[in-house]
Amino acid sequence: MAKESNANNSKVKRASAPTIDVRSGMDVESLKQAITEHLFYQQGRNIVNTSLNDLYMAVSHTVHDRLLQHEHKTMNAVFDNNNVRLVSYMSAEFLMGPQLGVNLIDLNIMAEMEQAVQELGFSLNTIMAQEEEPGLGNGGLGRLAACYIDSMASQQIPAIGYGIRYEFGIFDQVIRDGWQVEITDKWLRNGNPWESARPELAVNVKFGGHTESYLDSNEYLRYRWKPDYMVTGIPYDTPIMGYKVPSCNFLRLWKSEAEESFDFSSFNQGDYYKAVEYKVKSENISKVLYPNDEMLGGKKLRLKQQYFFVSCSLQDMMNIHLRFDGKPQDFHKRWAIQLNDTHPSVAVAELMRILVDEYHVDWDVAWHTTCSTCSYTNHTLLPEALEKWPVGLFAYLIPRVLEIIFEINYRFLKEVSSRFPGDNGKLSRMSIIDESGEKFVRMANLACVGCCAINGVAELHTELLKQQILHDWVEMFPERFHNVTNGVTPRRFVVLSNPGLSNLIIESIGDKWPGKLDELRKLEPFADDAAFREKFRSVKLENKKILAALIKERTGVVVNPSSMFDVQVKRIHEYKRQHLSVLHIIALYLRIKQNPDIDIVPRTFIFGGKAAPGYFSAKLIIKLINSVGDVVNNDPDVKDRLKVVFFPDFNVTNAQLIYPAADLSEQISTAGKEASGTGNMKFSMNGALTIGTLDGANVEIREEVGNDNFFLFGLTAAQVEDAKRNGYNPHFIYDNNEELRNVISMINSGRFSNGDTNLFKPITDNLLWHDPFMLMADFSLYIACQDLVAETWKNTAEWNRMAILNVARMGKFSSDRSIQDYCEKIWKVKPFNIRKA
Ligand SMILES: *Cc1c(COP(=O)(O)O)cnc(C)c1O
Repeated sequence: MAKESNANNSKVKRASAPTIDVRSGMDVESLKQAITEHLFYQQGRNIVNTSLNDLYMAVSHTVHDRLLQHEHKTMNAVFDNNNVRLVSYMSAEFLMGPQLGVNLIDLNIMAEMEQAVQELGFSLNTIMAQEEEPGLGNGGLGRLAACYIDSMASQQIPAIGYGIRYEFGIFDQVIRDGWQVEITDKWLRNGNPWESARPELAVNVKFGGHTESYLDSNEYLRYRWKPDYMVTGIPYDTPIMGYKVPSCNFLRLWKSEAEESFDFSSFNQGDYYKAVEYKVKSENISKVLYPNDEMLGGKKLRLKQQYFFVSCSLQDMMNIHLRFDGKPQDFHKRWAIQLNDTHPSVAVAELMRILVDEYHVDWDVAWHTTCSTCSYTNHTLLPEALEKWPVGLFAYLIPRVLEIIFEINYRFLKEVSSRFPGDNGKLSRMSIIDESGEKFVRMANLACVGCCAINGVAELHTELLKQQILHDWVEMFPERFHNVTNGVTPRRFVVLSNPGLSNLIIESIGDKWPGKLDELRKLEPFADDAAFREKFRSVKLENKKILAALIKERTGVVVNPSSMFDVQVKRIHEYKRQHLSVLHIIALYLRIKQNPDIDIVPRTFIFGGKAAPGYFSAKLIIKLINSVGDVVNNDPDVKDRLKVVFFPDFNVTNAQLIYPAADLSEQISTAGKEASGTGNMKFSMNGALTIGTLDGANVEIREEVGNDNFFLFGLTAAQVEDAKRNGYNPHFIYDNNEELRNVISMINSGRFSNGDTNLFKPITDNLLWHDPFMLMADFSLYIACQDLVAETWKNTAEWNRMAILNVARMGKFSSDRSIQDYCEKIWKVKPFNIRKA
């Protein structure tokens, strides 16, 4: 049947007698043959008795074969050329999302693969939906790393992403009785066709034990580390293809295993269980991603993870460097390391250890090499979120690394006191060791001492960093500071996830924009073209229908695709203020209850996001959203004009369906708290309008799209600080705003909790008496702005005009631009064209 329908429906031209190339051919016949062979020789199936997963595996292996050809060519060309500097992007998280779709886009064979699969009797969309995403990250930070390795490949920047191959990624979220329940993410259960293990490149990492000094053959004093045990790191490589270019980089993730020979003696003595215990202990290191993005202090396994992957990666980089005739002290000429937050910042000390202890490089030379290699990206302004580890834990796990940190600190503090004589406050604030109570190693200080560049992730964030938590460092090293505003990849977040919009844009301005997003400016004139606006509206409506069907399937709630989709999807956090949106929903509900015939714009409120399992308030906010939804969605007075949905398990796969269907993007964090945000960019690229505060990258998004095309509200970061200094009193605001009083009273009445007046008390009490994130101060401004949003929505032409201008002006927020900034300001690397090499 599939064959018949395709005979006259052929999208792709083919030669009459094709030469089939099973491993690298890009034509339909080669792809079909490759899929069939993989199905048989790898999965042991044939086309009539295949399962969907076997088929997904066969299709993915077919694509993987083609990526490997590019990867080999790229890396051979790069490594053979001693003048090429590579980027090592070190990150404890890579929130990759599914791989099949983007790889087809990058290889430019989406249409060919669609047809190949169709001729075999299947649908590519169904096969793509089978993929279990590698959720090796918590949220924005991990997703940023994934966008950046995509853009580095597309910009032809030779690069390796280094991280951890967690056996269990971020937990899967299910909602039971309105509460979040966490389920382990067994993403490797059905196999992973994108990775290749490289056991021949394994390296060992030391843990525990003690250090001792000795004299080397030249009578120099040296140190050596006698560990308690070693753990082996096995690299698993995933190719990262560039968009329509021949370059292909790779992501190298480390899996921990017991070091083969190590515990043999205790095994021989018959202590079999001790040997097994050691094996389990070693394998545990890469077992699970920590779901918290903060409050990890004292988690021994987390520090082990950090040191494990950093040491593996640096040893690997040194091996590559030496294999191609490099000298150890010239390491920085071969490599630029970017530290994604402080999680990998132990790299500063570990690189010193490798250079000084293992290759006997002089300290001062090694220090120059280290500082010239490493750069650090800061992701937070919350002082309590700055990573620090008890000195005792360091001493116990990685004693030699701690000694090196002490030496770095000793030399650094001498420099500080000579630059700022008598300033003891500065000395104690800048010390890598926090000695105010129990002693801690401050990871941000280690990064700032040992990195030649330090950057924030949006203009406002970088400015606030300089004024606040890194002020001392600006005075010491002003030349080290840069801003690199975050970006996202338009290949995944527009081309793949919004084919309707992509095709409309291609019809209008051609197909150069996914690799050159500034081209989108050419869409501007179409904002005034009624016919174009109508097509744009209908693309959005189709996307909303798809999401509506999924909402029905996942939550049982029926939503109206022509209502305004008002969306807030991101990690659940008090500073992001999901509960501010809930207060707005209740205010609208109250207006309806007071006047059931009121003229109100129909809205569907869609929330999604995971809460850290130990973060009580965030989990209670999820319960509140679901509880408000239960009441509002089922009240006949509402007449379906308001719907509230909590979309479970927000991950990259679901994100790709949600962003394209949004009308309104909620970016409502307390000003000064969100470093950048990247969800805000994905929404605008897909034609949503933003309601937002002057926070993170919102500031720059508003600058780009124009003030008239952005719904701004709320206190500024400076006003927030002022209010705090002048004794902020949330209760006073509450006492003086009737609508706010009614909203809070409704929660406290038990209306959303079956009469239980205590369930949500922790939320309302906190708002009335503390309100650290200033919801009370922003409430009336937010409600007024939402009323303006509703007024604007009524004018469909105007709304769509604004939405089209948002899309047209998002060029700056391609991660390609971010990577160009890193290359110019920080890494000093240039694109490497392998065709010309
Ligand atoms: C983009 C993205 C985020 C980050 O969202 P913010 O709104 O910037 O916090 C988190 N999770 C997923 C799955 C994403 O795709």
